Amino acid sequence: MRCPFCSRDEDKVIETRVSKDGGEIRRRRECEGCTRRFTTYERIEESMPAVIKNDGRREPFDRNKIEHGIAAAVAKRRISREQVMQMALDVEREIGELGVPEIASRLIGERVLPKLRAIDQVSYVRFASIYRDFADVEGFARELDALRGEDTGPHAAPIVLAPDGGNPAGFAGRGVEPGNDEDTDKHAAAAAAAADPS
Ligand SMILES: [Zn+2]
Repeated sequence: MRCPFCSRDEDKVIETRVSKDGGEIRRRRECEGCTRRFTTYERIEESMPAVIKNDGRREPFDRNKIEHGIAAAVAKRRISREQVMQMALDVEREIGELGVPEIASRLIGERVLPKLRAIDQVSYVRFASIYRDFADVEGFARELDALRGEDTGPHAAPIVLAPDGGNPAGFAGRGVEPGNDEDTDKHAAAAAAAADPS
């Protein structure tokens, strides 16, 4: 660090303090040329992009929201809290590495999908129902078709969208929220049955 008094480039750190929130480091330094003291501050650069919500509003990037979304999708599945946290961390890292000033919330969800898909297909379908607006039954069926195609090839059994006699459109259009676990599980079971007819 160059001395502000004599411009010499050598100093020793006398004292280091981290701010209460951990976001800033303050160092007291002494110039090795003129022995005068000065203070430097280090801050963590805010490199995460702002998130553009579906309604156009911007909000700060928040990894917790990703984590909550994933946690809702994996409810009652055999997926650990650590796996959920790791997925959220991976998504955060990927998005940070994009180096863009802002990103659509939808695109964040798109980055969660392949990770969830690799771990658990039921959770994947639940999550997809949040982030891809299934405006119609066909949209949801296409999603299941894609899954089925990977798993069992083109000759799998036909999809039954609402075996409980429910409204398929309502089914397809409803998101997954923490708190309506009962509904969610019924839907997930239907999705699982369709995705994996074995
Ligand atoms: Zn100096």
